[in-house]
Amino acid sequence: MTEQPILLTPGPLTTTAATKEAMLIDWGSWDDDFRALTAKVRARLLTIAKGSRAHTVIPVQGSGTFAVEAALNSFVPRNGKILVLTNGAYGERMVRTVETMGRAYAFLAVRETAAVHPAQVESALLDDPDITHVGLIHCETGTGLLNPLEEIAAVVREQGRRLIVDAMSTFGALPIDIGVLPADAVIASANKCLEGVPGFGFVVSPIDAVERAAGNCTSLSLDLADQWTYMERTGQWRFTPPTHVVAAFDRALDQHEAEGGVPARGARYAANCAALVNGMRALGFQTLLADDLQAPIIVTFLEPADPAYDFKAFYAALKRRGFIIYPGKTTEVASFRMGCIGAITADDMARLIDAVAEAMRELGIASPAPAATEVPA
Ligand SMILES: *Cc1c(COP(=O)(O)O)cnc(C)c1O
Repeated sequence: MTEQPILLTPGPLTTTAATKEAMLIDWGSWDDDFRALTAKVRARLLTIAKGSRAHTVIPVQGSGTFAVEAALNSFVPRNGKILVLTNGAYGERMVRTVETMGRAYAFLAVRETAAVHPAQVESALLDDPDITHVGLIHCETGTGLLNPLEEIAAVVREQGRRLIVDAMSTFGALPIDIGVLPADAVIASANKCLEGVPGFGFVVSPIDAVERAAGNCTSLSLDLADQWTYMERTGQWRFTPPTHVVAAFDRALDQHEAEGGVPARGARYAANCAALVNGMRALGFQTLLADDLQAPIIVTFLEPADPAYDFKAFYAALKRRGFIIYPGKTTEVASFRMGCIGAITADDMARLIDAVAEAMRELGIASPAPAATEVPA
């Protein structure tokens, strides 16, 4: 195989050769072997989420956004109302999604460099008894910020509402226990911290919540209650499943298990993140977020003010050295992002830091310091 680039992106991300090789076999979607594979993958995801027999896993075709939309449309009743907590691009996408599907909603917007505070959620819920659900982004991948899931969950439970958690960029690397969350759905996808290839998402839910969701969804293909009922009855997906992606995902889950599961995956990503942040700071770059808000998933760096810096040229210089980085997704400041997740190690991060230093020399960037006005207070 030719030398592969290292993707420092939040999915699709760098996968192992073993995961890619698992896609070399064609599967019949109706065949017993594929049904068994689907059942096995669902059971393994349930274990990762610390689910019990009272919980289930529902896969759904498409990228992660399809799974988020499916969960919102399936679990928020047609006469329900959702409070979306937003401090970045994915929170805003959730607002757009509920707006588009025509559900009643409210939102609590916090600035991009601050976590959603549980007390703010409590007062929003006390103010509006019509709110039935709360939507939360666990790690806001737009910046890399980690929101306080457990503390917000405690408030939601106390107030007698239900949570819908977009755990897309944390599931499999940071601990999530569906047994203790007052959640109708914890949502993730194949191509983030579990290191599969893109093609489907999934939700982990209490079975009673899925049963209550029947008839809520205004979309056929995104109806998770219908997908679940059919899958439980037949072992099949309702429409063509991404067969090769499921096979690759099962192989990726073998590696997740062999590595030591969620704690070991989280520890490797934390080491990647530390190597990245320390190395970039040593070169003079600044992170957007304070360290106590930073998830070990993706890091936002402020763009250098030096006129020699240009994102496209910087991107191309790093690409020539084997690294693919990500544009910024912040609205408040000019930035770029580098991911810590995928089949990569702290050694790859050390090579990246050397490549960044070389790219700076090549482009003539004397200092990576951001404009003073860019540094968030
Ligand atoms: C990746 C991601 C999604 C889904 O994005 P897709 O491009 O549809 O896969 C949703 N929410 C968060 C927080 C994510 O990181």
